[in-house]
Amino acid sequence: MKSRNDRVVSIARNENIAFAVNSCLDRLDIPDLTGKSVLLKPNVGRVVDPKQAVNTNPDVVTAVFHYLRERFKANYFIGDSPIINTNIREAFEQSGYSELINDPNIQFVDLDSRPPVERAIKNGKILKKIKLTGYLDEFDYIISIPVLKMHMHTGASLSFKNMKGLIYKREKITLHHLQAPDIIEQIKNPKKEVKELDVAISDLAQVMRPDLAIIDASYALEGMGPSSGNAVKLNTIISSTSFLAADILALAITQPEWTLDDVPHLKIISDTLINAPKSLDDVQTNPENIQDFIKPLEPPPSSISIKYENVNLIDVDSCSACLSTIFNLLKNNKEFIDKNYTKENPLNLAIGKGIKHSDLYEKTFLIGNCTSNNKEKGVFIKGCTPVESTIMRIIKEEM
Ligand code: SF4
Repeated sequence: MKSRNDRVVSIARNENIAFAVNSCLDRLDIPDLTGKSVLLKPNVGRVVDPKQAVNTNPDVVTAVFHYLRERFKANYFIGDSPIINTNIREAFEQSGYSELINDPNIQFVDLDSRPPVERAIKNGKILKKIKLTGYLDEFDYIISIPVLKMHMHTGASLSFKNMKGLIYKREKITLHHLQAPDIIEQIKNPKKEVKELDVAISDLAQVMRPDLAIIDASYALEGMGPSSGNAVKLNTIISSTSFLAADILALAITQPEWTLDDVPHLKIISDTLINAPKSLDDVQTNPENIQDFIKPLEPPPSSISIKYENVNLIDVDSCSACLSTIFNLLKNNKEFIDKNYTKENPLNLAIGKGIKHSDLYEKTFLIGNCTSNNKEKGVFIKGCTPVESTIMRIIKEEM
């Protein structure tokens, strides 16, 4: 039976982020990793510059690696599986990881580069099996190192959600397409609508969990996460051998009004696993008083169907890849859109698998393969997700 001591979470803040990492890990009881194969699993899903709080800060992962290597002669790996249409090496290099992934003492792995292993999920509520990275059986110890983010679909993205990167290639996207209204109906959540995606993520906890969670809040992402929010410098690291305890503390300092109900996949995991912590009362923080660490962040928007003055975005059950592409497109092409569209004659964009004919305006750009059922009803732009430049080119061609 787990005691409260198994739920120790340490937290540290320092302008020198390597110092914060060391201070945080010094206060944890990390097992002897000598001779083990250890995966450092940051969140490096996108090709973006460092310190935007979209990918994990490379300075944090480098500090974790040096800390462990000084103590344990282990076989170290670093890797991730990015979002669709993203080159993993390019994502790591653009995000500032070149030095680390070329260090001869750690092996860089594209987690999708081997045929997958399939795991049965015996008690899965929605998922009964899942294809995971073919490297899974190589690793004795998995360290989840996410960047702390708000997330428009899941409330927040923390150390457990980061494990989704161990799902093989496009199998990740299938989690966004599940339909199980009977199961959803049985799940009561007083604060937030629970979606199939939340339940599917929680099912993963039955077949893979991180052994150690180190949450990077050097820069945290507020608002429109996972990739279009604002980076906020917090200089903070949170760590625990209990991933749930770490995620609970991350929420406590950034969304003090929230409970686990606001992040349904964590709530379901907490209800499903035996003796799992449910709130901050169930974890032991180090230091005990975390008051000075609290810095509320802007939550993700509750509605993702947003109407801009001269843009109608019709979003029914998209996944974050398409939605992020659209938000970046709107941000990067504001001048063009403002010049060419008006409130009366807006740019109509539709994304997501749930789009129906009746949702569409007269001339609508149907973006992404999910909308292909209605491709005769507008201007269809194929891809999963189509890239921003292709979407803009077709919009301009259609003017
Ligand atoms: S088309 Fe877009 S919404 Fe559909 S699965 Fe692909 S990325 Fe997700």
